[in-house]
Amino acid sequence: MTNQFIPLVDLRHAGNMLRVPAQPIAPSGSLADARGRMLRDLRISVTDRCNFRCTYCMPKEMFGKDHAFLPHGDLLSFEEITRLASIFIAHGVEKIRITGGEPLLRKNIEKLIAMLSALKTIDGRDLDLTLTTNGSLLAKKARSLKDAGLKRVTVSLDGLDDTVFRRMNDVDFPVAEVLHGIDVAHQVGLGPIKINMVVKGGANDSEILPMARHFHDTPFILRFIEYMDVGSSNDWRVDEVIPSAEVIRRIHAYMPLTKLQPNYAGETANRYRYLDGKGEIGLISSVTHAFCGDCTRARLSTDGKLYTCLFAGDGHDVRALLRSDHSNADISAAIAHVWQKRSDRYSELRSEQTTATQSLQTKIEMSYIGG
Ligand code: SAM
Ligand code: SF4
Ligand code: SF4
Repeated sequence: MTNQFIPLVDLRHAGNMLRVPAQPIAPSGSLADARGRMLRDLRISVTDRCNFRCTYCMPKEMFGKDHAFLPHGDLLSFEEITRLASIFIAHGVEKIRITGGEPLLRKNIEKLIAMLSALKTIDGRDLDLTLTTNGSLLAKKARSLKDAGLKRVTVSLDGLDDTVFRRMNDVDFPVAEVLHGIDVAHQVGLGPIKINMVVKGGANDSEILPMARHFHDTPFILRFIEYMDVGSSNDWRVDEVIPSAEVIRRIHAYMPLTKLQPNYAGETANRYRYLDGKGEIGLISSVTHAFCGDCTRARLSTDGKLYTCLFAGDGHDVRALLRSDHSNADISAAIAHVWQKRSDRYSELRSEQTTATQSLQTKIEMSYIGG
């Protein structure tokens, strides 16, 4: 192994120069990071645009009419995404999640799904290919996504009460259309469908119980997500986080629950099932119970930067390698180098600072890096 590197490109935006090791470290094969965490999941943001302005993600004050979104030429093309995906898969990635921004806004997204669904894991299995959406275009797109090879979807839904929902998305979008989208996705077989609710104290925590009641005894898996300090624009305050333990307490008082074993090591959600046997819920507790120790996720931003943590300040410019004459082996080795050096554990550090009242550092926005 050598420590010599060939410098390649300077970044146009903030980010790190991505270097190709002079002698590739691991052109393919599974990769462990500096804390022994394998590379297993890849989240790909396909657009930084969104038709919602969720107050915890893209608040209107920061993402107003004059906000400069990325120009089209900066976005990774479907061919570039697929090429990168196959390199990541050769490094052990088994699960790919398409996200954004709102991924269903990306033109011809079905074409990308078809290209990705043709890829196989190292040991020849189908990829676990999924997509996270706000559901606004799901009724229209569910059938074509399914036909293109998408396996399942996760739908974000922050309440059932129409007034609360419209206030959360802040563009006056009616909840009925998202619920219809979920039904259509279910009918075409895009399941099992997970429903994600970010709980923000004082904003939508009144919806915890109605959501639990609504999805009890359905095939849908409701997951409550602690409000996180992602990005630098949502003005995050720790006193607006409703801990998962409180969510459980509120539901358990009416519909008794019992804890389940994880489906697999590293599962982000803690699972509980209803004692009456009618379904389960998940809790994603990145603030009160950080799960960095099991984090096997890499993220690719809309413009092709590789992030090794949701809370990273800097990415590594893979697009520059793609758009120069570097071989797959070069890119593969550069990715390996980044992953092998990875030591991120932001949420654990935040938890250790139990007195923290605000975010720890300036970070990249979630709509750009992908949730
Ligand atoms: N637009 C799509 C959607 O909303 O499902 C995909 C992108 S969105 C960034 C992905 C996920 O991140 C959503 O489930 C959203 O609720 C979640 N999210 C965004 N900001 C968050 C925050 N501050 N804390 C916790 N979850 C957040
Ligand atoms: Fe858009 Fe999703 Fe962010 Fe809401 S959470 S603003 S729907 S990207
Ligand atoms: Fe993974 Fe970073 Fe989240 Fe920890 S804080 S779980 S390392 S993305």
